[in-house]
Amino acid sequence: MRHPYLPILSATLMAAIVGCSEPPGPQPDVLFIVLDNVRADRLAQCGYERPTSPFLDQLCARDLASCSCGAQAPSTWTLPTHASYFTGTEVPQHGTGMGGRTAETVRLAPGTFARPLDDRLPTLAEEFQERGYQTISLSGNPLISPASGLTRGFEVEHHARDFAKLYGERLFRRLEQMLEERDEERPMFLFLNICDAHRPWFGIPPGKHDWLPAREYLSFKQEPGKPNETRRRFVTGEMGAEEREALLERLNDLYDYAVWRADETLGSSLRILRNAGIFEGDFRLVLTSDHGEHLGERSLMGHAGPYLYEEMTRVPVAFFSNEGAKPLPDQMPALNVYDLLLEGEIKRRPLRATAYASDTWPVWYGPEVGDDPSAALWEGSAKTVHHDGEILRYDLSADPLELEPLAWNGEAEVEQLEALLEALAASASSEPPSEEMLELLRSLGYL
Ligand SMILES: [Zn+2]
Repeated sequence: MRHPYLPILSATLMAAIVGCSEPPGPQPDVLFIVLDNVRADRLAQCGYERPTSPFLDQLCARDLASCSCGAQAPSTWTLPTHASYFTGTEVPQHGTGMGGRTAETVRLAPGTFARPLDDRLPTLAEEFQERGYQTISLSGNPLISPASGLTRGFEVEHHARDFAKLYGERLFRRLEQMLEERDEERPMFLFLNICDAHRPWFGIPPGKHDWLPAREYLSFKQEPGKPNETRRRFVTGEMGAEEREALLERLNDLYDYAVWRADETLGSSLRILRNAGIFEGDFRLVLTSDHGEHLGERSLMGHAGPYLYEEMTRVPVAFFSNEGAKPLPDQMPALNVYDLLLEGEIKRRPLRATAYASDTWPVWYGPEVGDDPSAALWEGSAKTVHHDGEILRYDLSADPLELEPLAWNGEAEVEQLEALLEALAASASSEPPSEEMLELLRSLGYL
């Protein structure tokens, strides 16, 4: 497999920034929890009207914890965002997750081919190993595996063999076993991906909650390379109004239940960690999500596409440490989880996201979707997005649902968005970057 050149530069930079020296004082156990596929706006903790997040609410209410509901994920699906979280770099730097069947991509799931994490980029797990940690990864998401490169640096690793295969008791038993077998002579870096909120979504049993009706299981199952028929009829407008409404209600209920289940899994996992004595010593816990989910807004369903709407990018971040937590900003790059994990502090990073064109979305949604990559910038309530050749501006305080975009030609934003897309395209290439590209990367803060 050939690799892009950009990650080599980034790796050199990372080594210079992070260094290999031991930090002073006792080393805390470090816990990194990702609630996969959880939109911030569907958490009670972030103001949602349904009680979907009782355990996260409890965690955020602790004196030693702080939470933000305004983090922006660096991209739109598991692979690129976890690559960012694990390396502290943005998508145009690490190049992970570019789709399509090429010499550089690997098969990660039926019909899913994507470029894995470049093996020359240092990972968080490797950094913790160098600091003398035992590194452990347990993932309910099958994409966080040796095949994707995301588990590099983890001494102990276990991942689901497919979606919805590692959850509930099976996950808890595995977590307990990993904690029982850990090396207590060394501090621990534990990564846990809780995948309950990811499709396929479990049915809601009758009487489960007074705030949710009973619903049947929904998977949107499809043959590789073919659209799911229900989803295709929804997005193409072939579905009648009544059926459309019923599907939207069911979809939203199932997702809320799935988020509630993810939160319940979080509660059980925290209990297991507490029973293992983790919170009696020095510890640092960082929680986030990797991306959101379209639930019918703009006739889109799912994630991993090239759209950077808030329902896709806005995720929670929680920080909990025996040292006490400094308040997290209302608005922050979710990539700050890397800094919180390594140093317990956030560092200043640009607030922006990028997404590769998707090779699956044109199949799901029609050929006009997914041909163009996207980039977005946030500055306060102003959000500027480059997608499908257009540059649009939203005022999120007046228009939180992004329904009234304005054409935008502000020079600074246009220049930066175009440069981001150029850097994204360069990261998809195997050619060495030109002098101009190196200059561009410097101007974006990548070098
Ligand atoms: Zn994910």
